[in-house]
Amino acid sequence: MTSKFIWVAFILATLTLSITFSLQPDEQKVLLVSFDGFRWDYLYRVPTPHFHYVMKNGVHVKQVTNIFITKTYPNHYTLVTGLFAENHGIVANDMFDSILNKSFSLDTMNIYDSEFWEEATPIWITNQRAGHTSGAAMWPGTDVKIHQSFPTHYMLYNESVSFEDRVAKIIEWFTSKEPINLGLLYWEDPDDMGHTLGPDSPLMGPVISDIDNKLGYLIQMLKKAKLWNTLNLIITSDHGMTQCSEERVIELDQYLDKDHYVLIDQSPVAAILPKEGKFDDVYEALAHAHPNMTVYKKEEIPERWHYKYNSRIQPIIAVADEGWYILQNKSDDFMLGNHGYDNMLAEMHPIFLAHGPAFRKNFTREAMNSTDLYPLLCHLLNIPAMPHNGSLGNVQDLLSSAAPRALPYTQSTTLLHGSVKPGEYEQEESYAYFIGVSLGSVIVIVFFIIFVKHLIRSQMPALPDMQAEIVQPLLQA
Ligand SMILES: [Zn+2]
Repeated sequence: MTSKFIWVAFILATLTLSITFSLQPDEQKVLLVSFDGFRWDYLYRVPTPHFHYVMKNGVHVKQVTNIFITKTYPNHYTLVTGLFAENHGIVANDMFDSILNKSFSLDTMNIYDSEFWEEATPIWITNQRAGHTSGAAMWPGTDVKIHQSFPTHYMLYNESVSFEDRVAKIIEWFTSKEPINLGLLYWEDPDDMGHTLGPDSPLMGPVISDIDNKLGYLIQMLKKAKLWNTLNLIITSDHGMTQCSEERVIELDQYLDKDHYVLIDQSPVAAILPKEGKFDDVYEALAHAHPNMTVYKKEEIPERWHYKYNSRIQPIIAVADEGWYILQNKSDDFMLGNHGYDNMLAEMHPIFLAHGPAFRKNFTREAMNSTDLYPLLCHLLNIPAMPHNGSLGNVQDLLSSAAPRALPYTQSTTLLHGSVKPGEYEQEESYAYFIGVSLGSVIVIVFFIIFVKHLIRSQMPALPDMQAEIVQPLLQA
């Protein structure tokens, strides 16, 4: 009877352990959506019922600190790598690499050179290396061959493809015979209209309403495909937008000789490559040129921007104050709205909302870093994270099964390029998982010891007879 009880207890303990393992977020589906240039407070500018529906039934982070420079390509690559620009290598939308002797430009869509992207490994590649499949609808960089790979399914970038067609592809991939576990969806607005109109324009209201309707359409399609309750939907953006004015333009031609430098990237962070022997001339002419422009030698760029240790960052950068514009001269393109400024400015901050089985309901967090999304994604997809600058601890309380609830908010870890060996930033597991495994292991070990002891005791009565038999002949002799 006792032996039966011990066996039942042993099986129960083993079950505890296996349930703990099965609670791990394997087989989680994730759809990451970016609405380019959706500033954090657009949510409150006009009624946005679909965004608020996600917030009410999911999670919302009020202030997301993105990375410097607050431009589209650097920030989209951060969302899928967890790295600062100096570490992932996409340091601007327009770049020149003096080592590769190559240029990169979003303006001319000269972005397909793999070497620019290969200082990091984006999440779709890591996901596929772990045996899963990914699908990308126009997410920046997903139609570029990186480390010899593309996403399992992807669309060639074409801005004229409608939002509805992009959603249709995503749904098709999630519901196919071999469904993807990771989807990435990108939409160009409200960035385009934000540049044209300026974020302060009352005409931005209908633009924001239109994005809300697009989100509504996505939710409707996910419900129709029976994905709404099983898929984890994360809605974010790359940066915000600030109002500019033609009265706040700084013209480089007023201070610099055009023949002394090459302007690699423009406003609001002018990337300046002085010609040979002209560094001092250029720096001195510019250093105190304008009260609303701060000029840095590369080595003097503030550490908090994590924007220094990369050959694609030019020897001099000139950073405009918020709302100011740097142009070579006034004949260059000017836009009423722009971004790229200091990532501490609230106007530069994006949105972050999420809904799905992995997330809590009606929960708001004050702050996170955009670098924290990457370890969160790796955790959800149950894949090992590459070295990154984020922290799962910063966002773990967004998760429905995560414990403890109130983890302290910490700054992004600093990872200097190439200074950390892969493996030091391994995927962090939840406390609940460790407690479960430890408890399960202890229970199994304790019952195993009791069982062995019981087995030994049950053999004990035979022992005196055996001894008697051994002793007997001796007595007879
Ligand atoms: Zn933009």
